[in-house]
Amino acid sequence: MTEAVVLKPGRDKSVRRRHPWIFSGAVAALPNFEDGDVLPVRAADGALLGHAYFNKASSIVGRMLNFDGLPPLEALGASLERAIALRRRLFDPGENAWRVVNGEGDGVPGLVVDRYADVLVLQVSTLGAERLKAFFVEILEKGLEPRTILERSNLPSRKEEGLASTEGCLRGDDVEAVDIIESGLRFRVGFVRSQKTGFYLDQRENRSLVRSRAAGRRVLNVFSYTGGFTVAALAGGAAAVDSVDISEKALDLARTNCRLNGSDGPGLGFFAADAFEFLRGRDLAAYDFFVLDPPAFAKRKSEVVGACRGYKDLHRLVFRGAPPGALVLTFSCSYFVEEGLFRQVIYQGAAEAGRRVRILHRHRQSPDHPVNVFHPEGDYLKGFLLYVD
Ligand code: SAH
Repeated sequence: MTEAVVLKPGRDKSVRRRHPWIFSGAVAALPNFEDGDVLPVRAADGALLGHAYFNKASSIVGRMLNFDGLPPLEALGASLERAIALRRRLFDPGENAWRVVNGEGDGVPGLVVDRYADVLVLQVSTLGAERLKAFFVEILEKGLEPRTILERSNLPSRKEEGLASTEGCLRGDDVEAVDIIESGLRFRVGFVRSQKTGFYLDQRENRSLVRSRAAGRRVLNVFSYTGGFTVAALAGGAAAVDSVDISEKALDLARTNCRLNGSDGPGLGFFAADAFEFLRGRDLAAYDFFVLDPPAFAKRKSEVVGACRGYKDLHRLVFRGAPPGALVLTFSCSYFVEEGLFRQVIYQGAAEAGRRVRILHRHRQSPDHPVNVFHPEGDYLKGFLLYVD
């Protein structure tokens, strides 16, 4: 039998509460093993807690795959099947773009899988998951019968695991792009040097919200990427929509996405620019609905202070220029900037701009990005719909 990892006395509590991460400080004894191996995990008194894969190079040395006596691959296979079954319940058959597997949120640490029509895109973030890739691919193929499976494992966090970036085609014919349907709207998702796996599926509900509030509004979509909120606003009857992103390539696709939904021409503006410079140089009274969806300003804990300065500046600029009655839909996808802190930063921006700002709604990631209640770290996206008097 494989030798087990033994935890220090009293340090088994979080695993017993089903938190999947084991930090190196909690481990009393590591047996000989190769990084990436799956090993049994035992409490100091010898009780079997489950199985995890381990990597000595990472500060999160182990990630639990199961919390019982089941063979770990059997447990993982069951987690994947549960993940697929949940999405089938969540979405009508006409919806063909959703996150299939959301890492720890689905009990499969280190693995994200997005479905775009008949293309699956995998993102592997840990060595343990890398070693299980063939197993994952086999189950996904059986469960979803995709035409193509791509890999876009390009997360910076792979470095900490001792892994290089890899992109490629794992099954079927390589494809550069595919068209998806989301809530009746059509989007082209590009896979060549794309961000994330190609599209921000986590904003699905929030795109619907924009659609429902956009009628007659003049919208400024800041950090637009490929125009998800732009298309949603147009579908909701917006009078005009300007999109700003630093990436020309993302804006090209945003233009395509507008055309795919029958919108072309007047009332649409695309600006390849730094968002902060754009906001400083523009008369913002021309807009009455702002969408702010920046990249994560804090990717680690040590960056929180700088990130808050960035969020505050962004909000001050928008609040200063927004006309009375404007809506501001704003997001932070930095896990480390928790909701209370984000709200405080928004208040500071409002105070500095001298505006009265109220919260109308609070928003989170879409339900195909479930958060395991034992793993609050998975709860990263928070948003507010604000009203500026
Ligand atoms: N709202 C988008 C996702 C935004 S992702 C959607 O729903 O699809 C964040 C975007 O911010 C990326 O497209 C990135 O190119 C852009 N970005 C990053 N830094 C920027 C900056 N300083 N100014 C403008 N855009 C920026």
